[in-house]
Amino acid sequence: MDVLDVDGATGYLDTNYVGKGAAAIAALDSHDLVVVHVEAPDEAGHLGDADAKVEAIERIDEFVVGPLLKKLQSFDEWRILVAPDHPTPVGKRVHSNDPPPFCMAGTRVHSVLKRPFGEAAARSSDLKIELGHELTEYFLRA
Ligand SMILES: [Zn+2]
Repeated sequence: MDVLDVDGATGYLDTNYVGKGAAAIAALDSHDLVVVHVEAPDEAGHLGDADAKVEAIERIDEFVVGPLLKKLQSFDEWRILVAPDHPTPVGKRVHSNDPPPFCMAGTRVHSVLKRPFGEAAARSSDLKIELGHELTEYFLRA
């Protein structure tokens, strides 16, 4: 496992989203599995700042997930999982034990659920995976 250094990666709201996305894309040329962690939505949750949380998620979508999806489709087989490690609701400003939402796409991912990607949808979902390492296994084997 290699840890990549990304200039401007702060672990905060002002992190380098473009750099993280670009580093992940470059890593896909030499690695089978790439994990990108962006802390900004969690920090916005701790601040109780819904606007900052939405902005962080939109930046992740635009500069990390979107470019990764485009790159992944250049491979014969690919898969992507997008998930928070835990919810940090802006109304509570602390981590919660609610089930975090997750979203998968790619080769041999057949289930198509027309649900929003959020905590409320996760709570009402029939698919719940109790432990984080079990989600990783589900992702790799699904
Ligand atoms: Zn936190």
